[in-house]
Amino acid sequence: MLRSTLLAAARSTGARKLVERTPLTRPVVDRFIAGDDVDAAIRATGALVADGRFATLDHLGEDTLGATQADATVAAYSDLLSRLDDAGYAGRAEVSVKLSAVGRSLPVDGEKIALENARRICAAADAVGTTVTLDMEDHTTTDSTLDVLRELRVDFPWVGAVLQAYLKRTEQDCRDLAHAGSRVRLCKGAYQEPASVAYQDKTDVDRSYVRCLKVLMAGEGYPMVASHDPRLIAIAADLAGRRALDSYEFQMLYGIRPEEQKRIAAAGNTMRVYLPYGDEWYGYFMRRLAERPANVAFFLRSLVTT
Ligand code: FAD
Repeated sequence: MLRSTLLAAARSTGARKLVERTPLTRPVVDRFIAGDDVDAAIRATGALVADGRFATLDHLGEDTLGATQADATVAAYSDLLSRLDDAGYAGRAEVSVKLSAVGRSLPVDGEKIALENARRICAAADAVGTTVTLDMEDHTTTDSTLDVLRELRVDFPWVGAVLQAYLKRTEQDCRDLAHAGSRVRLCKGAYQEPASVAYQDKTDVDRSYVRCLKVLMAGEGYPMVASHDPRLIAIAADLAGRRALDSYEFQMLYGIRPEEQKRIAAAGNTMRVYLPYGDEWYGYFMRRLAERPANVAFFLRSLVTT
């Protein structure tokens, strides 16, 4: 119930104004967002790299409604990639891109514009020797994201994508993408989805995650295990151990279980942290609140006690 309310609020302009205008929100936002600008993002990347972690950076933004804004997002990613290269982090940091941030929702030719913009970001990543992963948004965009992935991979075969275990279709998508050279980030899924397309029960989502993991781990691609769930992490490590697989990585979100991130990295695994930055943090922040009731309590407590 709380989760649905928060995810509905994530799409509401009224709720957005309310949350964004409350100055006391900021300390809670700072737990999940690395900062407002590229300088903050580079600093946070440096801190991760210093203790052996890797990063994937997200210039926050979704619901881009104009071509100018989409162009500005592409420019921000190009700047970010050259700053990562200048700082010597391009070997340890890649970028994550939401197609809605680069124009997919534009009323005319949105998907075509998003494809071309994503292509420009891929070219900038290629120039500094790193990679791009396409984030996955709500289920109405899954086919479109996978179509764009296929197009991008013609020129940039290293482009990866996210698949969401809560969608009933995902096990088949994993089979389709478990081929050599393919990079798949498997997560549970963070949007409000109907029962017609998505498992609603946590146990069913977890079971689907394990089935998808098995497909990816048995395939020839590069699985990226994106979860904070200790049980799923242990299952992934066990599956990889049984197959003597060393070509995979773990991923977690910035600010969530940081000590566990360090422990997994120190044990010799690749641990990549999804690092969001920028001032368009509202949708991302609300999805993080929705994932864990304790975050809401923490947020509300900070409003009344600060
Ligand atoms: P859960 O069962 O939700 O959590 C397991 C445990 O992790 C919890 O008990 C708690 O200890 C901790 N935890 C989880 N979430 C939080 C939180 N917000 N605050 C504090 N503790 C928490 N979703 C998409 O739909 N599309 C994407 O493109 C996408 N990309 C992602 C990329 C990465 C690298 C990661 C790690 C996640 C991504 N997600 C994405 C989010 C994902 O779908 C889940 O919503 C999120 O990871 C929580 O699921 P979980 O697997 O951690 O399991």
